[in-house]
Amino acid sequence: MRRPVIAANWKMHKTIAQALQFVKEFLPLLEGVEDRDVVLIPPFTALHALAETLRTTSIKLGAQNLFWEEEGAFTGEIAPSMVVDAGCTYVVIGHSERRKYFQETYPLVSKKVQAALTAGLIPIMCIGESLSERKKGKTFEVIKNQITEGLKGLQIQRSEQLVIAYEPIWAIGTGHTATPEQAEEVHSFIRELIRRTWGKEIANGLRIQYGGSVKPENMAELMAMPDIDGALVGGASLKPDSFARIVKYDQ
Ligand code: PEP
Repeated sequence: MRRPVIAANWKMHKTIAQALQFVKEFLPLLEGVEDRDVVLIPPFTALHALAETLRTTSIKLGAQNLFWEEEGAFTGEIAPSMVVDAGCTYVVIGHSERRKYFQETYPLVSKKVQAALTAGLIPIMCIGESLSERKKGKTFEVIKNQITEGLKGLQIQRSEQLVIAYEPIWAIGTGHTATPEQAEEVHSFIRELIRRTWGKEIANGLRIQYGGSVKPENMAELMAMPDIDGALVGGASLKPDSFARIVKYDQ
């Protein structure tokens, strides 16, 4: 049985004060929730303050990006050890917004995933096809290439070391969620690719999140699918009540 992992990707939203206010309202709503991993992924600037506040809770923190080098003349970049130092357990890598606005490619994603693993972070590697790729019937080909390039040369010993987020680009921030069946089809395909790469044990344990217009109203039906193990949530994670309802999808 895989432990669900539900993460709030706040993107470029929330000051430190707003992030702390969120936590103040969110924590009481989560009382009694212990059988799933809940991750907050704020902008870098709010990480340290949130880490202090969340120290005595089971909520984990994630960063939205990192650089693969450990130190040096890389203006504007954040090293893996700095992400750890700021209190993170997870790091999102290769989000489609980074692929779109910062020309991140999968060979580069692969370097970041490796750097995260080396630092002891759990990378949440994002993959997903565009609308035109889906319309042309290329979804599986695209996913296969992204997995192959993103995980090239990487080794993991335990399935908990990595999370994959399937985020069809056409569903991110658009209000158009993939149907549970559409998502499941791709999730089971991803699991099969992982089985071929790293064997059955890792494939069975690896958590695959769905992302793309997840809301309190559609989370339960997505989570009912056998290969969907959680969600990476953007817009609907910005309000404590909405994100708490997503986390507590089965209550
Ligand atoms: C995301 O940014 O990863 C995402 C899935 O956004 P949204 O939930 O707003 O579609």
